[in-house]
Amino acid sequence: HADIAMYRAKKLGRNNFQFYTPAMNEESLERVRIEGALRNALERDEFVLYYQPQLDIKTGKVVGMEALLRWQHPELGMVPPGRFISIAEETGLIVPIGAWVMRTACAQNKAWQDAGFDKLRVAVNLSARQFGAPDLIEGLEAVLKDTGMEPKYLEIELTESLFMSDITPAVDLLHRMKALGVSLSIDDFGTGYSSLSYLSRFPIDVLKIDRSFVADITRDANDEAIVTSIIALAHNLKLAVIAEGVETAEQLDYLRRHGCDEMQGYYFSRPLANAQFEQLLREGRGLTVEAIPEQVVEA
Ligand code: C2E
Ligand code: MG
Ligand code: MG
Ligand code: MG
Repeated sequence: HADIAMYRAKKLGRNNFQFYTPAMNEESLERVRIEGALRNALERDEFVLYYQPQLDIKTGKVVGMEALLRWQHPELGMVPPGRFISIAEETGLIVPIGAWVMRTACAQNKAWQDAGFDKLRVAVNLSARQFGAPDLIEGLEAVLKDTGMEPKYLEIELTESLFMSDITPAVDLLHRMKALGVSLSIDDFGTGYSSLSYLSRFPIDVLKIDRSFVADITRDANDEAIVTSIIALAHNLKLAVIAEGVETAEQLDYLRRHGCDEMQGYYFSRPLANAQFEQLLREGRGLTVEAIPEQVVEA
């Protein structure tokens, strides 16, 4: 167990660990500024969604997209989600912001479908905090009705943190979401500390392999073992599996050979503004894939 904990600390530590430095005062000042600015961001229309393509690894076709929030503040400039999502969660502002994201993503996806492009799925990140809020189901229902979006094209990304805190949603709540016809995925899979039992108790459709594991698959035997185990776990549970953070041809090749269903990552595309995403759809761009001979497929 100590080994596993060490390994996890090593993987996560790069981003999550902080030492106390004098710069922290400056950082808390920045935090206060961000919090203040965040309160007005919605009404000032400072948010925009970018869309990152998700591709079927076998066919090479774009099959979906993940909506990713961007905040363009007139003075602070582009504030990345890593700087403001946690503040939005702590202050509860994530609830109205998240509602805006859901509505905007569905409306945009429906507009692309209506424009005659192949129908794609859109994945929207849902913060654990949004589960605590009343009217989650009613809100979702209203968005689907108002935008005319068919629910089967909406995927909702949850994180493992949801299943290991005291706000663990009632199984009932997830079933009510599923009853709307949407699908549910677990984001950043493998980085949480939750027990895996929730996978059999909750109506999940997709596992998203965290990019920290994908990053070293071609160099680190432990990460290879983790990634192949997650793929096997997903398939044994009849779930689809998508790898995020795919940056190289080698990583993609590895994932293909091991039967991963979908990929998302800079290797194919960064998250794109509306116009660029539409350009990609218009050009029908996808991955070029050579068929893998059946006998070469590694289980
Ligand atoms: P996430 O949901 O895991 O989203 C994937 C993140 O990985 C995105 O970062 C994306 O730009 C990045 N990424 C994708 N492919 C690659 C790659 O090949 N290499 C690298 N290095 N990075 C890649 P982003 O957009 O900065 O978002 C960070 C996180 O902020 C998201 O992680 C998600 O947890 C949160 N977030 C973003 N938008 C929303 C939102 O609308 N609502 C909520 N609640 N959270 C959001
Ligand atoms: Mg996500
Ligand atoms: Mg993720
Ligand atoms: Mg992530």
